Amino acid sequence: MVQSSVLGFPRMGVLRDLKKANEAYWADKISQEALLAEGKRLRLAHWQIQKDAGVDIIPSNDFAHYDHVLDHIQLFNAVPERYTSQKLSPLDEYFAMGRGHQKGGVDVPALEMVKWFDSNYHYVKPTLQDNQTFSLAKDPKPVREFLEAKEAGFQTRPVLVGPVSFLALGKADRGSSVDPITLLDKLVPVYVELLKQLKAAGAESVQIDEPVLVFDLRPEVKAAFKPAYEAIAAAGDAVPKVIVATYFGDIVHNFDVLPAFSAAAGLHVDLVRNPEQLEPVLKQLGPNQILSAGVVDGRNIWKNDFAKSLEILQTAVKALGPERVIVATSSSLLHTPHTLASEKKLPSDVYEWFSFAVEKVKEVATLAKAVTEPEAVKAELEANAAAIKARTDSKRTNDPAVKERQAQVTPEQHNRKASFDTRYAEQKKHLSLPLFPTTTIGSFPQTSEIRVQRNKFTKGEISAEEYERFIEKEIELAVKIQDELDLDVYVHGEPERNDMVQYFGERLNGYVFTTHAWVQSYGSRCVRPPIIVGDISRPAPMTVKESKYAASISKKPMKGMLTGPVTCLRWSFPRVDVHQSVQCQQLALALRDEVVDLEKNGIYVIQVDEPALREGLPLRKGEEREAYLKWAVDSFKLATAGVENSTQIHSHFCYSEFQDFFHAIAALDADVLSIENSKSDAKLLKVFIDEEYPRHIGPGVYDIHSPRVPTLDEFKQRIEEMLAYLKPEQLWINPDCGLKTRKWDEVKGALSHMVEAAKFFREKY
Ligand code: GLN
Ligand code: ZN
Repeated sequence: MVQSSVLGFPRMGVLRDLKKANEAYWADKISQEALLAEGKRLRLAHWQIQKDAGVDIIPSNDFAHYDHVLDHIQLFNAVPERYTSQKLSPLDEYFAMGRGHQKGGVDVPALEMVKWFDSNYHYVKPTLQDNQTFSLAKDPKPVREFLEAKEAGFQTRPVLVGPVSFLALGKADRGSSVDPITLLDKLVPVYVELLKQLKAAGAESVQIDEPVLVFDLRPEVKAAFKPAYEAIAAAGDAVPKVIVATYFGDIVHNFDVLPAFSAAAGLHVDLVRNPEQLEPVLKQLGPNQILSAGVVDGRNIWKNDFAKSLEILQTAVKALGPERVIVATSSSLLHTPHTLASEKKLPSDVYEWFSFAVEKVKEVATLAKAVTEPEAVKAELEANAAAIKARTDSKRTNDPAVKERQAQVTPEQHNRKASFDTRYAEQKKHLSLPLFPTTTIGSFPQTSEIRVQRNKFTKGEISAEEYERFIEKEIELAVKIQDELDLDVYVHGEPERNDMVQYFGERLNGYVFTTHAWVQSYGSRCVRPPIIVGDISRPAPMTVKESKYAASISKKPMKGMLTGPVTCLRWSFPRVDVHQSVQCQQLALALRDEVVDLEKNGIYVIQVDEPALREGLPLRKGEEREAYLKWAVDSFKLATAGVENSTQIHSHFCYSEFQDFFHAIAALDADVLSIENSKSDAKLLKVFIDEEYPRHIGPGVYDIHSPRVPTLDEFKQRIEEMLAYLKPEQLWINPDCGLKTRKWDEVKGALSHMVEAAKFFREKY
C-alpha cells in the first residue's frame, strides 16, 4: 500500500487561536497554564483533522509557540547566557529569545530572526558561542509532544530540524567567531540521545529535516552529513527509523552527500518545485529505501492537479513498488492557511480552484489511494479534473488590454531621466533636507481602535465618510507626533492599510481575497496574502487621497508609500498558469501609474518597498537566479522611473545580507535605500564602500520586532559604527522597518532617542 504523509501542519488554528493566546499571555491577560493548554488543544485538533482525513503518517513536534528552530535552540540547551542568566521560566526564556524581554527588571533584546529559505516565514537564528556546549533539555519537547499524541490515540512521526541544518542555519554570536558547523561533534551525541528517548517513548520513525541540502553548500557543511548520520545509524535499533526530508528545491547537485544517508529508511524530496529530480533521485535510492514524494504543494493555495501528481506517483511506484512510496506534502503546510471552509466570500466560480491545509491533507490521502485503487476514489478524481478544467477555461484569467500594454513596454521606460548626481542636486534644492535626515519606514502602530473602525467599516456599520474621517484623524495624529519628534521626512502612518500587499490587491483587478486565510510570518504575526487569479490592472488611484491629505497638513516633505511589484507578487499567492515575470510586469505597470499620480498630486518623496525582493532569489546561483534578478529589477525600475529628477525615490528592504545581492540592489537605481541592519554586524555595510555605491542609505538603527526601547547611547553607538562604513552625506537615520506592530509609547520613546542621536551627529559633522 502507498502511504500518505504530511510534513507539518499550520499552528495557528482556524481563527488564529495561537496568535491570540500568545498575545494574551504577553499582555499578562492569561496565565502560563492557560497558554500551554491552548497549545495542547490546537495540537490535538490538528492531529484529529489529519487522522479524520485518513493520513497515514501524521507529524508531531511541528507545532511551536513561536518558531520551530527556536524550539531546537532550547531543546539542545543552546540558549545564550544573556537569557539563561535571567532565570526566567523556560517559556519566558523562549519568548525572550524570540521577541526580547523588557519587564520586571529584565532587559534583553531578541535573537536575530531571518527568512526561512525563500518563504515569508521567519526563523530565529541559532546563535552560537566559541565555547558552545550542547545538552538535551529536561523533558524534551519532541518526546513530550509525541507522548501527548500517543495518549490521545495518535501514532505520530516526530519532526526534527536535522543536526547539519540546525548548525548551518546558525551563526556565531557577537563577540564569537566560531563556524557553527565545527560544533557538529558536540551536537551529535545530544541528537542521538534525543532519538533514543523518542524510540523509548514509542516513536517508530522520525522525520529529520535537512532543508539546507537544496543550497549550494560549503565543503565543510557537505562533509558534516556523513559523521552525523553515521553516528545516528550506529545507534541501530535504539533509535527510530529516519526519513531525511528536503524541500523548496532540488538536491541533485548535492547527490554526493546521499551515501551519508545509506542507513536512513527513506528520503523526502520536493516534486512540486522540482519534478525533474524524480528520475535521478529514484536512481540514487538504496534497495530498500523509501521515497517520500512531495507532490501536494505546501506553499500555495491551488488545488492539486491530481492527473499531474498521479503521473509522478505512478513513475515512482513503477520503479520502487507501492510499499516504498509515500505520498506527501512538498513541505510543511506551515505556509498555507488553515481551511477553505472558512471562506464564505470567495466568488463561487473560483472557490473550487483552491485547497488550504485541511483540504491538502485530504488530497494527500486521496492521492495515496488513487495510485493503487483509483476506483475507490473515482468521484474525487472526477471532481478534481472538473475543477482544474474550469480554471483553465475561465475568462477571469485573461484581459486583452493588459496584454496589449505589456506588449508596448519599451526599454527607455525602465530608466530615470538623469543619473543620480543630477537628480540629487535637484532633490536637494527641492526638499531641503539636513545632514543625517531622519525618517521612518511607513507604518505607525495599528492600534486596536484602528482595527475596530476598519472592522465596522468592512461590516457596513459605519459609512465610507465616517471611516474616511477616522483615517484622517489618525493621519493628523501621526503628523502631530512627527512634528513633536521633529523628524525630517514624514509618513502618513498607513492607518488605512490592513496589510502592505492586501491593501493594493484590493484596489487592483485580477485579485481575489480571503477572509480567514492567514499564514504565519513570524511569532504571532500572520499575513493574509491575496490571491492573483487573473491579469492585473489598476482601475483607479490607490493611495493618492491619503498621501495628499497628509502632505496638506504637514510642514515637512511627506513620503508616499507603495508596495513594489516584486513584493506584491511574492506576498500574494501567485498564479501557477503564467510565469511570475509576466505577473510582476503587470503589477509594475499598475504601480507606475500610481507613482506618477502621486507626483502629480504634490508628493515628491516616494518609497516603493521591496522587502520581498531578496526572498524571491532562487536559492542557488546560476541561470535561474540571473533570470529572476533581471525581471525583478526591471519591474521595480518600470514602476518607479516615470518621475521627474526632483522626485526622490526610496526603497526599503527588511534584510541586511547583501553580499550575493548587491548588484541587484544597486541596479534598482533608487535614490535612497533603507535596509534592516540593527541586529547585524555594521561590517556588512562595507560592501557599499567597496562597491563605491553612490546613492543614499538608511541602515536601520533599531529593531522594531521587539517592544524594547533602546537607550540614546545605543543609537549613538550604532550610528558611530555605521559612519565607519558610510559617508556622512550618504547616511539616513531610520528604524529597521515599519512600526505597525509596536505601541505608541514604544514608538515615541525609541524615535525621540533616534532623532536626538541624529542631531548629536549633525552637530558633530
Ligand atoms: N512601509 C511598510 C511599513 O512600514 C514596510 C513594511 C515592510 O517592509 N515589511 O509597514
Ligand atoms: Zn521592512
